[in-house]
Amino acid sequence: MRGIDVRDLLESPGSSRVVHVQEPVPGLRTELADVPEDTPIAADLTLESVVEGIFVRGSLEGRFTMRCARCLKTFERDFDVEMAELVAREPGPDDDYALEPDLTLDPEPIVRDAVVLEMPFSPLCRPDCLGLCEICGGDRNLGECPGHEVTDPRWDALDVLLNHLDARPDEGPSDGGDRTTTIR
Ligand SMILES: [Zn+2]
Ligand SMILES: [Zn+2]
Repeated sequence: MRGIDVRDLLESPGSSRVVHVQEPVPGLRTELADVPEDTPIAADLTLESVVEGIFVRGSLEGRFTMRCARCLKTFERDFDVEMAELVAREPGPDDDYALEPDLTLDPEPIVRDAVVLEMPFSPLCRPDCLGLCEICGGDRNLGECPGHEVTDPRWDALDVLLNHLDARPDEGPSDGGDRTTTIR
């Protein structure tokens, strides 16, 4: 993103200015979400001159492309993020952002951080997405799975119990139990 000249603001503390920025920001990507590089992010920012530097607040709008964490379908969703950050003139250890040496303000690091925070860690194409069948890989949203995975979970519990008993044969009657380990 292009730097914004803020020398006029720095010369008159308390003054403010509204700027509109609309540019692509490359490299906004997590495992399941990204902002396509040809899709610009639009920002309406109020820049306010304060003692420490320039206080930036406003909203960012753009569009995510995401992959559903359950069914892996690709889908898009608009985002609208509010943010407010200080860009320090002489940054100290607690300041995340600083003005450039030529007293321009580069909005890109602030925009980047705000958008990355908004990216869903585990996006879903819809809240009740049924996902893919673990056995056949069919999309259950589309009824592609024949339902072969339906078993009575009570038998699973019995299998676990029997395997557990089988794994400890002939330890002696330490607990006095009369184990029926001969069932196979
Ligand atoms: Zn899905
Ligand atoms: Zn299936």
